[in-house]
Amino acid sequence: MNTSLQDMPSRRRAPALDVAVVGGGMVGAAAALALARAGFSTALLEARAPAAWNANAEVDLRVVGLAPSSLALLDELDVWTSIREARAGPYAHMHVWDAESGAAIDFDAASEGHDRLGYIVENSLVQWTLWQALDAAQGGASAAGAGRAGAAAAGVRRLCPVEVRGFEAREDRIQLELAGGETLAASLLVAADGAGSPLRALAGIGTRGRDYAQRAVVAHVVTERPHQDTAWQRFLPGGPLALLPLADGRSSIVWSLPEAEAQRVLALDDKAFLDELGVASDFRLGRIAATTPRAAFPLKLQLAERYQADRFVLLGDAAHAVHPLAGQGVNLGLRDVAELRDTLVDARAAGRDIGAAHVLRRYARRRRSADTLDALGFDALARIYAWQSPALVAARGVGVRLLDRFAPLKRRLSEHAAGL
Ligand SMILES: Cc1cc2nc3c(=O)[nH]c(=O)nc-3n(C[C@H](O)[C@H](O)[C@H](O)COP(=O)(O)OP(=O)(O)OC[C@H]3O[C@@H](n4cnc5c(N)ncnc54)[C@H](O)[C@@H]3O)c2cc1C
Repeated sequence: MNTSLQDMPSRRRAPALDVAVVGGGMVGAAAALALARAGFSTALLEARAPAAWNANAEVDLRVVGLAPSSLALLDELDVWTSIREARAGPYAHMHVWDAESGAAIDFDAASEGHDRLGYIVENSLVQWTLWQALDAAQGGASAAGAGRAGAAAAGVRRLCPVEVRGFEAREDRIQLELAGGETLAASLLVAADGAGSPLRALAGIGTRGRDYAQRAVVAHVVTERPHQDTAWQRFLPGGPLALLPLADGRSSIVWSLPEAEAQRVLALDDKAFLDELGVASDFRLGRIAATTPRAAFPLKLQLAERYQADRFVLLGDAAHAVHPLAGQGVNLGLRDVAELRDTLVDARAAGRDIGAAHVLRRYARRRRSADTLDALGFDALARIYAWQSPALVAARGVGVRLLDRFAPLKRRLSEHAAGL
């Protein structure tokens, strides 16, 4: 902490802001917008400005499947229509099958009384659209600037590029120290700074989990047959292969492989890659005819030991990183956003300090238990599908076939994945 911070009298001075959100990825940007829309004076601090999304550019390799709960939040924030009209691939069916036992399970939007199960969208489009909305909302922030401690006003201020170096919780505020030596004060600090979260480490919050020793190889591919608005996922002994339907008719693959296999697959020439992918997908969509360049991401299960410290909360990947097999990482993060906003709105209505420990406890308790259940559920799935002994494979096959026929349980699963 620098001397100017230590010298600041902590009494008598109202915090400059209600909330400082650090990290402007999909989750942090949604949090800043949701809190500003709820009337909290908010600042969003991000180290790297996102590149402008461009409809004429190749589809970003990082895509996510957005569940109905995420669509509802983005719609409330008035950004979903822009995202959908820009580029979003709806999916109405999901077909998941086991390469070893052949057992399959199907989910169908119509049988649940819906048009769609969700949409496949580019991370960069979601982030960029939220940033555009934040720009439009910036007008409301008055004195919420770095190094200043003025009166709070609803609105949002984007500070970028800026890096948070440290922070200190005081009785009525939390003081942030920025890389340039400037300072910022808020009632609450929200860390949405990703799985490697430097702020989580600064707050002294540990994590637990496990390294899957896998990488997810991603690419967009042209398939011989259309994707039929279906998210396909085949569980192979080395990890799941998902083919997710893109708006332009191609499919986006997420192929989880043991580390060395992933490196080998990344190094293949295109022809060999397309052939191997065809085999791995069981030619469900026919031959794989073309591919974009590939990229790969390391996979781990990571849960923060707690979501709360003094005037500080974690959300998004900073709080939980999960295996992509269920396509739920950002959906959990956006559920964190909605819960935090509702918690703070209720606290304000009751005349409470929004950074008080007992207020933050509600958010931390609810979201940590929900995220933990989901994360451990996805981890259990990863473990079950890694079973290779013939007896266990047979048992898995029986279980999956039973589940596929047991409509009430399947509906519960589907509603849970939708965040309903
Ligand atoms: C292969 C793959 C497939 C996936 N598929 C799905 C899917 O289908 N559905 C789904 O829901 N999820 C999916 N996920 C997960 C999803 O991508 C993540 O959950 C999501 O991107 C996390 O967003 P975030 O905003 O929490 O974190 P991030 O996107 O990591 O954002 C963190 C931000 O914080 C900034 N930052 C870091 N430190 C500082 C600092 N000190 N000061 C200021 N700024 C800082 C960073 O620059 C960054 O912009 C997938 C993940 C992978 C790897």
